[in-house]
Amino acid sequence: MHWRKGEYIDETGNKYGRLFVVEFSHMEPRTGGGGRSMWLIKCECGTEKVVPRSKFVYPHNRSKTVSCGCYKRDLIIERNIARSGTTRKNRDT
Ligand SMILES: [Zn+2]
Repeated sequence: MHWRKGEYIDETGNKYGRLFVVEFSHMEPRTGGGGRSMWLIKCECGTEKVVPRSKFVYPHNRSKTVSCGCYKRDLIIERNIARSGTTRKNRDT
């Protein structure tokens, strides 16, 4: 499979939210032509994985913290801590 140079934007070394772009991994072909670039990323929590570029650079991600999923997890934990002891009223149904 051949991919022309310039078909993907080099994101190596960039940082988005908690994610650091380690290196380009490969192109993933799409049905109907074209493809998407897959990148090896490293999260601040130490998790490394390969994700599509759209996972971290799409405009809708700018306003939120991008992570491997740990940010969401942290938020839930924080919320649970904040809630504990103050949620008894919610049980009255
Ligand atoms: Zn993480």
